[in-house]
Amino acid sequence: MASVKKKLWENNGTFKSNDGIRTASLNFEKGQRTIRQHKGNGFKGKTKTHHQSLDDSLEGELRAFLIDEGALHTYDDLTKVNPVTPTTVLKCLQARYKEKVFYTQAGCTLVALNPFQPIPHLYTLDVMREYHCASHPQEFKPHIFIAAEEAYRNVQGQVEPTNQSLVVSGESGAGKTWTSRCLMKYYAIVAASSSSPKCQDTVERIEKRVLDSNPIMEAFGNACTLRNNNSSRFGKYIQLQLNRSQLLVGASVQTYLLEKTRVAFQAANERNFHIFYQMMKGGTLEQRRDWRMPCDQWFTWLPIADKTVEEDCFEETTDAMTHLGISKGKQGHIFQILAGLLHLGNVSFCPPTNESQPCDLQEKSKESLQNTADLLQIPEELLLSGLRLRALKAGKQSVLLKPCSLAECSVRRDCLAKVIYAHVFDWLVAFINNSICADTSSWCNFIGILDVYGFECFALNNLEQLCINYANEKLQQHFVAHYMKAQQEEYVSEGLEWSFVRYQDNQCCLDLIEGSPTCVFSLLNEECRLNRASDAKQFKARLEKELSDNACMSWDKFSMQPHFTVSHYAGKVCYQIEGMMEKNKDPVPLELIHMLQKSQDSLLQGLFAQHNIEMNSGRGHGKVVTVVSKFKNSLESLMKILHSTTPHYTRCIKPNPDCRPLTFQKEEVIVQLEACGIVETINISAAGFPIRIPYPSFLQRYGLILNSRMWIQSINVNGPEADKDVLSPMVADVLNLVLQSQSLDPSNASETEPCSSLVHCGKTKVFLTHHMLELLEKRRDRV
Ligand code: ATP
Ligand code: MG
Repeated sequence: MASVKKKLWENNGTFKSNDGIRTASLNFEKGQRTIRQHKGNGFKGKTKTHHQSLDDSLEGELRAFLIDEGALHTYDDLTKVNPVTPTTVLKCLQARYKEKVFYTQAGCTLVALNPFQPIPHLYTLDVMREYHCASHPQEFKPHIFIAAEEAYRNVQGQVEPTNQSLVVSGESGAGKTWTSRCLMKYYAIVAASSSSPKCQDTVERIEKRVLDSNPIMEAFGNACTLRNNNSSRFGKYIQLQLNRSQLLVGASVQTYLLEKTRVAFQAANERNFHIFYQMMKGGTLEQRRDWRMPCDQWFTWLPIADKTVEEDCFEETTDAMTHLGISKGKQGHIFQILAGLLHLGNVSFCPPTNESQPCDLQEKSKESLQNTADLLQIPEELLLSGLRLRALKAGKQSVLLKPCSLAECSVRRDCLAKVIYAHVFDWLVAFINNSICADTSSWCNFIGILDVYGFECFALNNLEQLCINYANEKLQQHFVAHYMKAQQEEYVSEGLEWSFVRYQDNQCCLDLIEGSPTCVFSLLNEECRLNRASDAKQFKARLEKELSDNACMSWDKFSMQPHFTVSHYAGKVCYQIEGMMEKNKDPVPLELIHMLQKSQDSLLQGLFAQHNIEMNSGRGHGKVVTVVSKFKNSLESLMKILHSTTPHYTRCIKPNPDCRPLTFQKEEVIVQLEACGIVETINISAAGFPIRIPYPSFLQRYGLILNSRMWIQSINVNGPEADKDVLSPMVADVLNLVLQSQSLDPSNASETEPCSSLVHCGKTKVFLTHHMLELLEKRRDRV
């Protein structure tokens, strides 16, 4: 603030814009200020009056006001935008989007705006080769292929090979899966060895197989939602395995938290997983007869959302399955089981005439039950009793069957569908892995691609959002830690002090969710392990008692529902407690598992043969393995892998909520920028010194600013290899000269260390901000 005021007084209240053409003059009166904008010499007549007292944001606001909007789209890196505020970053991205520039660097992160229309020329084979063959791809316009290529080159490593990770994040519909596919295609091209005729077949097969895993996983794991017609309902980390010659020899996939509830419940205007629609539309007459699916068959679990969605991919899906080695016979089993699930959805009950009896099957459901039983190959009677009778242990040996309430019957039906679908999905993932994973001996490094759900905050949030947002907190922590560490290491080795970058640490929030000894997860698990009916109010009281000290925890006094609010790095989210414990337990009745183990369908039976009943049912002496503990464990393994790799971050942004082509809605984008902490990211990148130039190179380029005989002699005598002791005073002279002529905090500059916010002199390099580089370049042009 002081420096702005000082500058304003020194300049008679005027402030110059970045381009030097426009100026603003300020008028301070009675705590108010008036900003007038001028262009060239002529006053443009634009006057703004701000009725507010002066505060620290004045400098940012003034510079934002003076930003040259005409040039904004030319900023390839958001760290060059000055000042970095949500507004200026937004303006810059908007200007670029208007010019159909969809990628922008944000320091160490790549921002990808979704065009929502095909841009074929951006992703052709030629473009891929161009990036791959360039000696300095970083000098090209920002593109996802730069990150891809950088990772590919890094994997070989100069000293030792390092595994790489490409972390793609963003909200639903932002383009994560699209980007991941694009990255996989890139590697399938650049890491393919078609040059060796001997292994051409194998290599071609493996690349195609790796790519073929996408349509399968998307058919079974994606669905049309309100926010994205092809929304991934699971997280995915795929490792592309490379051999010593950097060739793609295999891959492995790890999935996270499939939204299995969707199989039995679809929100209004949303759909079930794509595969069901593909079967309906793409199955042959014969298949449909086998599946008991005549054209006019209506399924409760197959809502037709009011959207045009791609459903014609059945052939593509089955081709991919065949190519990956899933035999036609196995495919038949899978589709038969899925058809069985659709019929199961049409099974409903009504209250019994006699209260002591089990619920009655609705008349219209009789055929559906029979179809389900036939397709799942379970005796009809067994299926019916599984759905409406609960098994209770009576003594050590005997079991008592008790009728379920009407609501319980529906819960059991849905539970059966969910557990079957989740097992089919896991089986597919395991099969894919078997088919594409290379022998451990044949690969030595990998490039991982992470496509996970972005931060979520809906009107109602529950356990799913808590897990997803927790995953995002972990990734954010990883991002900050990694980036800071990388910078810090270089600063330390260059002898710079590490005290000038401040960043938001989200440890407090992570402690709240997963910390020890007490946290939301531990309390939730404790509550689930107590063998009693869940009580939301009681749990809320527990949270209040144990965790109210944590600054990230709060409660909305006006909310009637039991809830808790977590301040995430991306914003506050209010979680409903009702239903959370049940979701965390995710209980599967033992008798249903037994029933599935008796299926005559070999695949279905096999899926549950290994099922650990004690663990899932929550009975017996084993501990209940809750959803959050499983998720936490899988996330921890993922973080371990990520920590062992060099990460590259891509933040996908969805420019409008309706997926309209080339439409940029500011309100929509700003929320995402805030949610992914982009301003923070830029500040982290910009607060450091992104430009590093070795002393000799620095003097070769900027030494002429000194115009001194000493410099010329030194360069002539010592050449570019001159040692630091000789060069550093000259470097300091150049920098001081430039800073003084700009009257930039000259008081801060010493003889050996010029203005420390813009430049640092390390052991072998000069560390500069973009601003300082610009000043140097301008000054050099004038010489
Ligand atoms: P979710 O979290 O719901 O899975 P997502 O981030 O994975 O969402 P995508 O499915 O990748 O979103 O993208 C949504 C749609 O946006 C795609 O189906 C595609 O039509 C379009 N799209 C995304 N990126 C691009 C791009 N670079 N060029 C053209 N279209 C794109
Ligand atoms: Mg996706």
